[in-house]
Amino acid sequence: MQRLIQGLRNFQEEIFPAKRELFESLAKGQQPSTLFITCADSRVVPDLFTQSEPGELFVIRNAGNIVPPFSRQPGGVTATIEFAVVALGVRHIVVCGHTDCGAMKGLLHPEKLAAMPTVASWLMQADATRRLVLENYETADEAQLIDAMIRENVLVQLRNLETHPSVASRVARGDLSLYGWIYDISAGQVDSFDAAEQRYIRLDGTSQPHATPVARLQKDNLASL
Ligand SMILES: [Zn+2]
Repeated sequence: MQRLIQGLRNFQEEIFPAKRELFESLAKGQQPSTLFITCADSRVVPDLFTQSEPGELFVIRNAGNIVPPFSRQPGGVTATIEFAVVALGVRHIVVCGHTDCGAMKGLLHPEKLAAMPTVASWLMQADATRRLVLENYETADEAQLIDAMIRENVLVQLRNLETHPSVASRVARGDLSLYGWIYDISAGQVDSFDAAEQRYIRLDGTSQPHATPVARLQKDNLASL
């Protein structure tokens, strides 16, 4: 804890004064461009690896970067998505998994979660990922299975995201873009799912792959419905 308190002091003495104008403007409100949904893992720091400033990313974190399918039951993830999309009007949503994800390991080996029944229940929301991988990656070894779980899970959670009414409506009219990212902890690299090519592409600044479905209800397309 001493380490954190020292860090806070350093922030107050060095960082805050250097960015005083930014913090003063943020004190009046926020207009983040992006809802960033990622794992709770301490090694995944989206503000750092995207070099974002305070006020840019609206973040949801949980074990396994899971987006429960829409339900009217109260839920922290569901309510926070609705707030980000409706009240804040974010224009982008990133679902970001990562290498060496403990949640995905637990999903692959539920027998190891016997002492953590709540974690096991939470991860049941990624059952589609588990089944999809086990039935379609039959020749994969352990490391390949974990990798497949991480990558397929991001795509399953992106589909869950589209069951949320506020998201579905804006995606349909091309007003909200979706992205599926995998952050590689050991390399500092990000792979992004490309809906056009149906595969992950390394983000190197030359292209902007995205996972957004075709905007069927854009004004130009409505006449053909
Ligand atoms: Zn994780």
